[in-house]
Parts: sequence; structure tokens; C-alpha cells
Amino acid sequence: MVALKSDREIKIMREAADILKDVFIRLKDFVKPGIRTIDIDSKAEKIIRSLKVEPAFLGYYGFPACVCTSVNEQVVHGIPSDRVLKDGDIISLDIGVKHKGYFSDAARTWPVGKISHESEQLIEVTKQSLFEGLTAATQGSRIGDLSNKIQKYVESFGYGVVRDFVGHGIGVALHEDPQVPNFGQPGRGILLEQGLVIAIEPMVNMGRPEVKILDDGWTVVTKDGSLSAHHEETVVISKDGPEVLTNFEKD
Ligand code: MG
Repeated sequence: MVALKSDREIKIMREAADILKDVFIRLKDFVKPGIRTIDIDSKAEKIIRSLKVEPAFLGYYGFPACVCTSVNEQVVHGIPSDRVLKDGDIISLDIGVKHKGYFSDAARTWPVGKISHESEQLIEVTKQSLFEGLTAATQGSRIGDLSNKIQKYVESFGYGVVRDFVGHGIGVALHEDPQVPNFGQPGRGILLEQGLVIAIEPMVNMGRPEVKILDDGWTVVTKDGSLSAHHEETVVISKDGPEVLTNFEKD
């Protein structure tokens, strides 16, 4: 069941998102060649705790860290480890926090050092696809309208949209109804109403859309080994259109 949020709840979620933006901003310069993905997690945990919020992913279904660190062909849910980042890698960081009982959730794919033009384009298209989706994220539209916009944009570059993992409602739980796929048909799915809060999160593969889960039970990788990028924002549907709570780049 979809739980629409009151103005009071949205105010708290805006605070939760502001704190999460701060976490990303403080991590940005830390991500560079030579550091381990587990160093990013330790740094993030320190920042999160210093901001007096809870890391949302730590212990979630047993996930062992605060940040999902997914490198290159890893799509999502990468577990921080001793892996050392190299110049030319791309890394997706997915982080959530819980503040006053409410969650915010966001992800970015960042370059490590100097990356190829192809990798840069993948990251840019993934991010832009979310904002293309938002052009349909208005009251009276349906989830399928948004999903279809994302899919069309991504596929126009010859990339694959991941089907096996999707976005989600968010609020008092990290994952609430409805599901928010990054592919689909216009006119399908639930109506977007004022007070709906969703985490939209396109996962885009340079090659085919298919993914598989590694033996660690978490890490999702592309089946064909192609690079993958992820961009996620927590978004409120308001009467004036979508409000992207976690977009720190425009601040
Ligand atoms: Mg999410």
C-alpha cells in the first residue's frame, strides 16, 4: 500500500535528505586512486555518526556496511573491501540515512582519477535519464510514464536498463510501495499524487541489461562484464511538480 506523506513528514524527509547531501559532499574529494573501498565506508560512517543520524544500510537484511561501493562492472550492492581503486575506475556509492524515523536514499557514480570518454558518457546519461523521467513526475501522471521516459532516454544511447532491480517508495521504511521501475509502458502503474515520496534510481549498463549476483550474496554485476552506472535521488511529488530532495550538485 502506498503511504502518502503529510507536509510535516516531508519536512523531516527534507532534513534527512539535507544531511545525506552533506555526507556525499564531504566524501567527494576522498574518492581517488589508491584508496580502498572499505576506506570510503569508514569515512562515510564517521561522517554519518558525526551528523547524528543512523546509517540506513548497515545491518539491513544483514548488509555489513554503511555504503554500497560498486566498482566498474558492479551494478549495485557492492560490499566495501580491501579492493584498491585505480585510475580510470568508476565507482557507484549508494548511501541512506535515518533521521527522526524517516529515511533518505541517494546514489552517485563518480570517476576515479581520469576516466575514458565512454565512461564519462555512461555516467552522464545515467544521471540525465533520471531527470528525463522527472519530466513525467507530475500529479496525474502514472509511474509507467516516468519509467518509460527513463528507458527511452537510456536506450537511445544503445545502453541497457537493468530490469531486476528498481526504485521504490521511501519514508518510515527504506523500501516502501510502490516499486519504481526504470522501464515500462506509459499510462501504466499507480497514479502520482501529491505527497508521494519515491527513490528513483536508474541502473544503466554499457552493454546488455542482464545482471547476476556474485557468491557473496550481495554484489550485483553485469552478465556481460560491461561497465554500469547508478544514479539515485529521493523525490517528492508536490503540487508544483517533483522536488528532488537529494540533489546537492545544484546547491
Ligand atoms: Mg534505493
